[in-house]
Amino acid sequence: MKAVVYHGPRNVSVDEVPDAKIEKPTDALVRITATNICGSDLHMYEGRTDFEEGRVFGHENVGEVIGVGDAVDKVKVGDVISAPFNVACGHCRNCEEGLTNYCLRANEPGIAGAAYGFADMGPWQGGQAELLRVPWADFNCLRLPEDAREKQDDYVMLSDIFPTGWHSVRMSGLRPGESIVIYGGGPVGCMAALSATTMGASKVMVVDRHPDRLRLIEQIGAIGVDDSKGSPVDQVMEHTNGMGADRGAECVGYQAHDPHGHEDNSATLNDLVSSVRFTGGIGTVGVYVPQDPGGPNELAKHGKAPLDVGSFWFRGQHMGTGQCPVKHYNRYLRSLIAEDKVKPSWIVSHDLPLDQAPEAYKHFDAREEGWTKVVLHPGQAA
Ligand SMILES: [Zn+2]
Ligand SMILES: [Zn+2]
Repeated sequence: MKAVVYHGPRNVSVDEVPDAKIEKPTDALVRITATNICGSDLHMYEGRTDFEEGRVFGHENVGEVIGVGDAVDKVKVGDVISAPFNVACGHCRNCEEGLTNYCLRANEPGIAGAAYGFADMGPWQGGQAELLRVPWADFNCLRLPEDAREKQDDYVMLSDIFPTGWHSVRMSGLRPGESIVIYGGGPVGCMAALSATTMGASKVMVVDRHPDRLRLIEQIGAIGVDDSKGSPVDQVMEHTNGMGADRGAECVGYQAHDPHGHEDNSATLNDLVSSVRFTGGIGTVGVYVPQDPGGPNELAKHGKAPLDVGSFWFRGQHMGTGQCPVKHYNRYLRSLIAEDKVKPSWIVSHDLPLDQAPEAYKHFDAREEGWTKVVLHPGQAA
């Protein structure tokens, strides 16, 4: 089968690799029809993780089931499914408590949480390929309704970024009528803005500096805060009568940088502490890593950041962190799409055949104007 294979920093190619196959009776085999390039793929693409050369990327996957193991009894051949990026067993203590983001059995002992095609997240191959093996298939597959094909670019957001954006807002503690500031207007930040709007936020502010992203944000009625035009904290204060936003969401991660490209892994966290009101809440879904050998300074190289902990504590804020437990939300977000309440595909700028993945990575990684979200379609002719 063809797959997007990593060969070192900023070097991917579409290679012929051994077909994914059913390896255990609980597996399903899925023919991928849509698979996104994610911002977190870029950390790996840039060589800022220990992702192994020769592995296949891709954790945001939709496809058709073409085979099931003998122990799979709910999922059927022919089902069109969304696979949460979390690989989860369904039976461990954390899975039983709904914390599929910290499954205790899908990674090596001592590490909780797993994902397809992801650094340090277990052995699972990615879905930027013609075929994907989905383990514990009855647990991990979410079946999609009749309109699965026609709304494919909406449903493909269910495997990661829509639930992840939703999770950031939920962790912030947003209540209807409250305001929220979201740092980062990339795909996850856009989904956080869509989520906050859907949950009834009175004012949604999104900090970014790229004109294409600010346009998308404004299309759904959120306020774009352009941090190339001055302090984002000051701008948020102006929008909130000097009080700060009720809630905040971090959708940037450890490669946060200023408009001149200088990296500072604490920049968005500290701006959030300053932008959110006393006793407000913050949800952090941007990726941070325990070790970052390519980091710009000694602290960063060891996964540490100079957090304004004094202000954070003094202001009585709380913060939720970590990856999203996709299964906690995806069934309900699927219904919002099916009933036309939301259209997360509004951020998609490019639908491309798998063969064009190397070019797409290059453009998306360079944050080129107009490359806001790429969906790859392995079945589509070049
Ligand atoms: Zn993702
Ligand atoms: Zn588990």
